[in-house]
Amino acid sequence: MARKVSIFGATGSIGQSTIDLIARAPRAYEVVALSGGQNIARLAQDAIRLGAKIAVTADESRLDELRGALAGSGIMAAAGRTALLEAAAMPADWVMSAIVGAAGLEPGLIALRGGATLALANKESLVTAGPLLMATARASGARILPVDSEHSAIFQALVGEQMEAVERIIITASGGAFRDWPLERLAHATPAEAATHPNWDMGQRITIDSASMFNKALEVIETKEYFGIDPRQIEVLVHPQSMVHALVGFNDGALMAHLGAPDMRHAIGYALHYPQRRDLPVERLDLAKLGLLEFRAPDDLRYPALRLAREVMAAGGLSGAVFNAAKERALDGFIAGRIGFMQMADVVEEALTQMSSQGGHIDADITLDNVHKIDQLTRARTDEVMERLG
Ligand code: NAD
Ligand code: MG
Repeated sequence: MARKVSIFGATGSIGQSTIDLIARAPRAYEVVALSGGQNIARLAQDAIRLGAKIAVTADESRLDELRGALAGSGIMAAAGRTALLEAAAMPADWVMSAIVGAAGLEPGLIALRGGATLALANKESLVTAGPLLMATARASGARILPVDSEHSAIFQALVGEQMEAVERIIITASGGAFRDWPLERLAHATPAEAATHPNWDMGQRITIDSASMFNKALEVIETKEYFGIDPRQIEVLVHPQSMVHALVGFNDGALMAHLGAPDMRHAIGYALHYPQRRDLPVERLDLAKLGLLEFRAPDDLRYPALRLAREVMAAGGLSGAVFNAAKERALDGFIAGRIGFMQMADVVEEALTQMSSQGGHIDADITLDNVHKIDQLTRARTDEVMERLG
């Protein structure tokens, strides 16, 4: 029987890679819902190609356009946040969570409540509400499979192992666009310069987050939440080749590394076929040709986001939601030219300090409602911080 699948964030980088895999075996899947944002043409085209039941755009004002693009196909068109959440509630066996930002949390929670296996690319879900997400999966008996290259790598290195035997987890970072820039130059880096990645082809936001290491900061928190490991056992190494995605160190001194070409179809395909392994259309590494793999410790001055992640994990509670929201707004500010590249970390740090000293909010229970409230509050506060700087 065909597996029912839905893809949220279908028009993005991860969404398109997911569709690439699914379109290769059309008879194996029955596509329920696809969601997108502004790219109506692509959304409609993929919905028709895959024979989806429903296509949803997050933008309410684009409904007519989507209807027009789907005319005669028999595919339902819908728009807006409520429609997106309703689509997430449609029964499915496997759901790809690939919306970017905190907006991806709720659709994922709804899919888990319905018992779907959640392929989780949206790392913001674990950063903002890790305990809630994991508890929701436990309560419904649904599985979350990581679709971040590092976390998929850790997951694979842990197959057949016991968590008690794990001493440390090392995630690697390419170092992003500015890895080899002199520190003084970073203050003047432009969004266009930050949005080019040396190894990976990804969405604009995560690519800039790679240059600032806010992406790695989110991933350290993601590691803590998903694998339930002490933050002191998580390390980050700069690895310019992006071939080793993560390593797991065990109590007997063994270090299990996961290597693969930098192609997200590996992590997506692993989550799609789990617990089996199937042939995937990804490049096979030629290690002899590669010759060298380099590793080095990240520079604290260059990457203040990593220090902030440690502080967030120590504070716990809703501070992950504060961190993510402040980061999202600071990134908006950088893309809009309101603040400089290195100011993003200053802005996030100031927002974190202000939100923690307010009392009550960060310690509140991690419920969807509280996450949403503190997210909104933090965004407003972060805007004020940027206003004062600009
Ligand atoms: P992207 O920008 O290419 O695509 C984002 C998708 O989300 C699009 O379909 C867009 O229409 C949709 N979207 C954006 N804002 C929305 C909103 N408010 N409501 C509903 N839909 C919205 O992003 P991406 O690079 O594919 O990343 C998606 C997620 O996967 C992110 O959480 C990212 O951190 C994570 N991730 C990406 C990669 C990668 O290689 N691209 C790797 C690991 C993890
Ligand atoms: Mg990653």
